Amino acid sequence: MNTYDYIIVGAGAAGTVIASRLTLELNQNKEIPLNILLIEAGNENRTKDMDGNMAAQNPMKLWGDKTLTFNDCVVARSTCQPPRSYPVGKCVGGGSAINGMGAIRGHPEDFKEWQTLTLDEAWNWKNMLNAYKKIECDPLCNNDNHDTKNEIHGNNKNRIPIHRIDVEDWGPVAKAMKIGSEETLGFKFNFDLNSPDSTGVSPFPMNMKKDEKGNLIRVSTNDAYLDPIRNDTTLRNKLTVQPNTLVNRIVFNDDNNRAIGVEVIRKKNNDNNNNNNIGSDDDETTTIILYATNEIILTSGALYSPAILQRSGVGPKDILNKFNIPVIKECNIGKGLQDHPVINGKIILKDFYDVSKRHANALSRFTSNIGGTCFNDLYFVSVEQGNDPRAQQKEEKEDGDNIDDNFPVGYIDVMLMKCNSRGSVEIQSTDPNISPNVNENMLDDELDKARMRYGIRKLVELFRSPAIETIARKSTSSPLSTDENDKANESMIELGRGNDGFGLTLLEVENMSDVELDEWMVQTLSDGIHICSSCKFYFYLYI
Ligand SMILES: Cc1cc2nc3c(=O)[nH]c(=O)nc-3n(C[C@H](O)[C@H](O)[C@H](O)COP(=O)(O)OP(=O)(O)OC[C@H]3O[C@@H](n4cnc5c(N)ncnc54)[C@H](O)[C@@H]3O)c2cc1C
Repeated sequence: MNTYDYIIVGAGAAGTVIASRLTLELNQNKEIPLNILLIEAGNENRTKDMDGNMAAQNPMKLWGDKTLTFNDCVVARSTCQPPRSYPVGKCVGGGSAINGMGAIRGHPEDFKEWQTLTLDEAWNWKNMLNAYKKIECDPLCNNDNHDTKNEIHGNNKNRIPIHRIDVEDWGPVAKAMKIGSEETLGFKFNFDLNSPDSTGVSPFPMNMKKDEKGNLIRVSTNDAYLDPIRNDTTLRNKLTVQPNTLVNRIVFNDDNNRAIGVEVIRKKNNDNNNNNNIGSDDDETTTIILYATNEIILTSGALYSPAILQRSGVGPKDILNKFNIPVIKECNIGKGLQDHPVINGKIILKDFYDVSKRHANALSRFTSNIGGTCFNDLYFVSVEQGNDPRAQQKEEKEDGDNIDDNFPVGYIDVMLMKCNSRGSVEIQSTDPNISPNVNENMLDDELDKARMRYGIRKLVELFRSPAIETIARKSTSSPLSTDENDKANESMIELGRGNDGFGLTLLEVENMSDVELDEWMVQTLSDGIHICSSCKFYFYLYI
């Protein structure tokens, strides 16, 4: 079958939700037969079918997994950094199958801004709060033990379960970040991060639940939105999910004013739409056009949606001309890309942490108040993580057991929200198998730089707190520094990317001028892996 009512391109976080909602809502009119197609470049991937180790609460193992991510995806974080590997989910569930599971709501002010920008009343906070309540099952909804307003949480058992790890079960870095934030920086503790006026230190709300064995596991959008359709005998035939199918381009009608189909490359034995073919050894592919009578919905993510549009002739003229692609519509598709810049703060720890446990348990949020920017524009994120590959000294425990080749490390990173800097996505070939060129251009904007500087100076203050001193290793071995004069304590903490030669001690950062700090930040910054905003249509494409 080659014609559907709707074709959704990309079964990631957005595509799976839209497919499920369309199927449920359109099925209410049972008179009309319904055929929806959800296309995905990667494999089928449900948490219940994943290896237990992979389904666990520390997703960092998944980020280099070649079966779940785009293998050739590299991104330049700023203008003076070379492109580096960037994990983007390529499977049913997309980013929701591999991401950090932080289930964090937007602020009411953000939606107010959308309301103003779009002149659309629908974005008002009352509507958005109702939407948030409908998509979550948060235990705080029925829990009077915490200081939160129950009416702001939802209890929809069929959707995304929200889980928070209690403070006593946090790792040492999260605990020290909490105490240092409270005692040294004067931040408050607030159990409910998703309460609209909450700020300060909070447990990370996560889209997780306990499985039958009591292990915490991810709930991806594939699990929460597609499984209920698959399990419903009246709905399952209305939605076809087609993995291992790569969309090359959108096909337009002769007048170039309506999208009518998609050109796809898929395995030959997928041609009968039989999902049981997934995983077949027959890798021979075929290129065909699939048609949609109603709509084509593009949900291929912030890097691959603009790439598909550009290959289809929708985008900046210079890019289309470069590849001799006939121009269907000249527009800024691919411009406007955003991410959250991050500066890493690494601590060499006294004690090892079981890295199979949840890696990030807590956030500490604060507001710079610089340039009238948003509430909670800065986050500290604590990460209990593996070991420092540069610290080669073997460490002996008192019992003489050699427990690891490396020192244990943890991180407290600072991350900037609601940035003004904008990057870009550009195809580098007309071959859909090749990922686009991506320049994030982070910290290009002066206000972003000023707010990040504020965040870094606060992070240094936190690192100087007695709470951090209690978890940092005290030693004369100074694994992070080659400077013999460096104080041992000083060298237990490093800001920036040490492996690339940009790692600095607290003292070095404190002695830097704003200009020096700006230059260093752009060279060493990392990212929040939160790409978005690359497909902005200012008006409808066709009027
Ligand atoms: C490592 C990581 C950690 C993150 N942590 C968090 C977090 O803790 N909390 C949070 O809220 N957000 C987090 N995010 C961001 C969040 O996952 C994304 O914002 C979200 O997944 C975006 O949804 P999407 O549907 O736009 O794109 P995606 O989820 O990326 O889905 C796009 C889908 O389209 C498919 N596709 C692409 N090109 C084609 C093509 N040509 N043909 C067919 N299919 C195609 C892809 O394979 C993919 O499945 C994280 C992201 C990553 C990668």
